Amino acid sequence: ATMPPLLSAIANAGRHGVLVKSAVVMERLGQVDTVALDKTGTLTAGTPQLTAIRPLSGSGATEETLLTRAAAAEHGGEHPLARAIVAAARARGLVLPAAGEFTASPGTGVRATVDGTRVAVGAPARLLPAGDPTAAEAGALVTELEEAGHTAVLVLCDGVPAGVLGLADQLRPDAAATVTGLRSLTGRTPTLVTGDNPRAAARLAAAVGITDVRAGLLPQDKVGAVREQEAAGHRVLVVGDGVNDAPALAAAHTGIAMGRAGSDLALETADAVIVRDELTAVPAVIALSRTARRLVV
Ligand code: ADP
Ligand code: MG
Repeated sequence: ATMPPLLSAIANAGRHGVLVKSAVVMERLGQVDTVALDKTGTLTAGTPQLTAIRPLSGSGATEETLLTRAAAAEHGGEHPLARAIVAAARARGLVLPAAGEFTASPGTGVRATVDGTRVAVGAPARLLPAGDPTAAEAGALVTELEEAGHTAVLVLCDGVPAGVLGLADQLRPDAAATVTGLRSLTGRTPTLVTGDNPRAAARLAAAVGITDVRAGLLPQDKVGAVREQEAAGHRVLVVGDGVNDAPALAAAHTGIAMGRAGSDLALETADAVIVRDELTAVPAVIALSRTARRLVV
């Protein structure tokens, strides 16, 4: 028998490095008219580097103790920021004490107990205690890092701000070409949906030609952004890599996960997985779907 067009398209998608999980998914990809892209790990390479270690004055923390505690707390995490913080500590030869009671909150950060101290590491906007006397100094450090386009994470010890870490990721080399390709295929510019801060998000969006930026989103806010567009009559494709993207990947018309560094939950939830690390595979599979759909009678 001749291969049915949607199955040939799945085989072709495989050659482009995309695992499409079913013929139904292959068909749905071509119906998409709006694409929502995640930032960290999707438009960026997902291998951030530590750029700054700033203990707060009066906190008693030093660069070494701050990084040691943050890395010990992040040790159980699979987030790109967690991996970067642990790698930076290792590179400085720091010995990481074992952490207990580890919990991760997608879109917010992690908590763990390190040497009897409760350590929290995560998004300043979510962790900075209002009215705390150290909040002003921490806030100023955060603003300075974010204005430079970096991601700032706050470290709290027993609920008190101890310092701020700065991290920066690189744009994928094919990010701008992917945005352009998606715009010409769908007639609409993709949107950016990220849990990161609005300043870093705006800077990255400008670099790739995205104007609709939603930042500071929790996993459920990403779902809200998808639902809003679908309520306006659009069929939305979400592309993401994190645990924080899983609810939006599930809620959207179609979801694609980044395979190389993506979380297991994202890979399981998505309808398709980019196995080779190329973002341009996204417009490629949409085009393949459209060709196959024209051949289906
Ligand atoms: P994105 O949507 O861009 O992939 P996330 O939702 O995963 O970003 O993360 C949003 C923000 O939450 C990060 O910028 C960071 O401030 C905080 N965060 C999430 N996970 C962690 C973690 N493991 N360590 C530190 N901060 C974290
Ligand atoms: Mg991400």
